[in-house]
Amino acid sequence: MTPEIHPPEPTKIIPRLPFSDIMSIYSRFSGKWSRIPLLEYEVDGPITANQLRTCLDFPIEVALTENRGQLIASPIGDAYTTHFDPLNSYEALSARTLTSRLTAHTHNKADDGVVVDTLSFVDLAWAVRVSNQTSVFVIHENGITQFQKPTTRLDGTALDEELNFEDARNMYYEFQQEKGFTYMSFVTGEIGVDGQTALAREFAQRLGMVLTGANWDEPGIEALVRKINLQEEE
Ligand SMILES: [Zn+2]
Repeated sequence: MTPEIHPPEPTKIIPRLPFSDIMSIYSRFSGKWSRIPLLEYEVDGPITANQLRTCLDFPIEVALTENRGQLIASPIGDAYTTHFDPLNSYEALSARTLTSRLTAHTHNKADDGVVVDTLSFVDLAWAVRVSNQTSVFVIHENGITQFQKPTTRLDGTALDEELNFEDARNMYYEFQQEKGFTYMSFVTGEIGVDGQTALAREFAQRLGMVLTGANWDEPGIEALVRKINLQEEE
């Protein structure tokens, strides 16, 4: 059963602050796995590529969404586990994630140095449910990657209609069987972060979800940063 998702609560968002100020607040939040307050801010002015890159050094991850045309920054402390769960305290962010024009978040370098340059399986579970207007981005050590809702089946054939969550879950089970892993493979550490990342990357690719991307030193990075800033392409 899909949990009921309530509309966002924009009144709780703190009015406009320059992103540099928001960064100095978020950089002091510590404890990736600990609970941190959902202090959300409206971002004043465009965010630069360098600022996004600097966020990768924070102890927490940073999410960017859109609300009523404004860019909103949110700290995500319980990364990988609960930050997009509609039943947790991040309810407003979760709801906005599915309907916003934009949902982007940072993937800081993992403890073992693995670059998680793709949507994790947890991320994929909500990325298949976002609205057709929602652009999905992962900001990572190598650059920025943009994703879209699934466009193909595992065998590469085009989807003729939008994938529902049940279908997506069935494809995930099919992929697990093909690759010979289960959720427990991750929990027990049988498959580490690098292995999980490789599997999640392949799953997203096979479902036609990888739209575009650029490394930090490539010219294409600026177009992706403009999209994150909700600046329309010419
Ligand atoms: Zn993620």
